[in-house]
Amino acid sequence: MLDFATLERMGHEQVVFCSQPEVGLRAIIALHNTALGPGMGGVRMWAYESDGAALIDVLRLSKAMAYKAALAGLNFGGGKAVIIGDPKRDKSEGLFRAFGRFVDSLGGRYVATEDVGITPADLHYVLMETRHVVGVDPRRGGAGNPGPFTAHGVFEGLAACLESRLPGKQIGDLTVAVQGVGSVGGALVRRLCAAGARVVVSDIDAPRAEALAGELKGVRVVTPADIYDVTCDVFAPCALGAVVNRDTIGRLKCSIVAGAANNQLAADDLAEELERRGILYAPDYAINAGGLINVAVEYEGYDEQRAYAIINRIPQTLQAIFDMAKRECLTTAEAADRMAERRMHTIAAIQRPYQACPPAARYPARSAQSPVG
Ligand code: NAD
Repeated sequence: MLDFATLERMGHEQVVFCSQPEVGLRAIIALHNTALGPGMGGVRMWAYESDGAALIDVLRLSKAMAYKAALAGLNFGGGKAVIIGDPKRDKSEGLFRAFGRFVDSLGGRYVATEDVGITPADLHYVLMETRHVVGVDPRRGGAGNPGPFTAHGVFEGLAACLESRLPGKQIGDLTVAVQGVGSVGGALVRRLCAAGARVVVSDIDAPRAEALAGELKGVRVVTPADIYDVTCDVFAPCALGAVVNRDTIGRLKCSIVAGAANNQLAADDLAEELERRGILYAPDYAINAGGLINVAVEYEGYDEQRAYAIINRIPQTLQAIFDMAKRECLTTAEAADRMAERRMHTIAAIQRPYQACPPAARYPARSAQSPVG
């Protein structure tokens, strides 16, 4: 159930339920802290088991977007949308255009892009109804699918993780278990293989995982249930959230958890548990910021080199998080939160100095146009 206490506790500003039964649209848009700028974040289409599950997902995801933007140094706030439906069955032009009209009604407070279950073709329909969309097909002036940019950031971020937990090791020395080989996971596996790593993959879309293993040398497929038991250096969640939970944490046989999925930890205290087990956790929203950075640059006028330059700062950000965690006896998740909150609060607290304006500007219609007396 959504109530004001939940919004206040989680820090959200606005939650919008969007219903258009004629086209089967049931969507929720959530805006977290917008102190730094408009809420930007992906649209997820998923066959949630209940409306409550969709609501929890959109609240957690939009909060993570606010923290991700803040930590990446972007001037955007947190936004996210979920469309309740099966992406393989329920998509239509009408559904996405109806959704686009809801996005437009927010007047730019929410800027939409892709997430799980959404393709550039779907976004094209949204774009017909609102200009507040990024990650648009390059043929329509956008920067395209952010997945490969996210994968680039995760790959680069791994270097900082190695330096911190497995000093002396190179990517080519590693065994990496990648959960989910979609847009980001697939691109990450390619980068890892090119660098000489051994990669174990799983995907609930088994043919997708098999196809990748058939194409690339050094890739082995396991079932989705078995990925947690793989002995590896790095476990890289690149599917859905909450995969590090009370059932799976004891099964992990890795030194590092570093991947693209949002909200990887099912509960906050699991960060401490990972630390206790000697596993370094790369906070998800710090290492997976590449795609957001790319679309944020698109919003300002796309320049691929500039996007890569900002994404390449991810290892430094991770290093700063690891250093702060060590210095202040925090988990890496807590250190990342504090760094992001510090920036959001600092910018929100800057006061706009009082600016005098002439009376005509203060009371435009009356004082300028009404005859006196
Ligand atoms: P995607 O839909 O392209 O790929 C997800 C893949 O995971 C699919 O192949 C799906 O079959 C598989 N999958 C789902 N549940 C699974 C399970 N239990 N076990 C194994 N495989 C499973 O999505 P994506 O764009 O690659 O995003 C992956 C994750 O990264 C998501 O959590 C997303 O929120 C996050 N993320 C994506 C981006 C981006 O730029 N696309 C940016 C930041 C974070």
